[in-house]
Amino acid sequence: MADNLQKIKCPACGEEMVKIYMPQQGVNLDVCVNGCGGIYFDNREFSKFDEKNEDISPLINVFENKSFNKVDETVKRYCPVCGMDMVKNYASAKHEVQVDECYACGGKFLDYSELEKIRAQYSTEKERAADVIKELYSTVGKELKNFEDKYNEEMSNPSILTRFIKMKYN
Ligand SMILES: [Zn+2]
Ligand SMILES: [Zn+2]
Repeated sequence: MADNLQKIKCPACGEEMVKIYMPQQGVNLDVCVNGCGGIYFDNREFSKFDEKNEDISPLINVFENKSFNKVDETVKRYCPVCGMDMVKNYASAKHEVQVDECYACGGKFLDYSELEKIRAQYSTEKERAADVIKELYSTVGKELKNFEDKYNEEMSNPSILTRFIKMKYN
């Protein structure tokens, strides 16, 4: 795990990442301080940082007055902890920011400034959850609509099977 003191290399630029202790969350984050400004989160660490009401001042201090190297985002990334391919995924139901995720160990990598964008989306965990539920309802709603459309289509132009069933049971 990256939370111990073992150093890892940045999956975006290859620089050695620096451990930044986050007192509010009680974890060490791996930050690409000397390279691209990316941040690596262990499985479950990420949810402690992704809303506005969670304190990230040690990170802000690290990033202050620093410029970071641009990275080629098309280069394939591998998990710095377990070596598996990382996969791009939307960070939230808003579908605005994509982050790199490792399905094997649950690690996540964010490019510089992505964390700020994600944090700007929701103030609290509750708001985030509400949005997930809203999306779920809209997906289910669309599926129901498709089903209804198919049903209406079938009823206006019934197949042999439907005609047979109607004949037999009407
Ligand atoms: Zn980097
Ligand atoms: Zn991994």
